[in-house]
Amino acid sequence: MLALAGETACPTSLGYDQNGCREGSMSDRIDFEIVCPNNHNQTVTYSQEEFEAELKTGVLTFHCNTCDTDWSPSGEQIAQFRKQFSKE
Ligand SMILES: [Zn+2]
Repeated sequence: MLALAGETACPTSLGYDQNGCREGSMSDRIDFEIVCPNNHNQTVTYSQEEFEAELKTGVLTFHCNTCDTDWSPSGEQIAQFRKQFSKE
């Protein structure tokens, strides 16, 4: 049986479900390669829950450690993130 519905796609065989694997689980975090407005590569890590929550409350910003810039993702970037989450 395939479990592709996100919240049920829990790798229980690896013991990841000790925290419940649904709400509050931090086991689904993904690394994303992003590029700051000054062309520095950065890596950020989000779970889909964290990402959507920050997006919803309008606090989603990225930070570049190299040039100390904060910026908000474009709609295109957000779409890419969501695509990645849906692959997992
Ligand atoms: Zn930068």
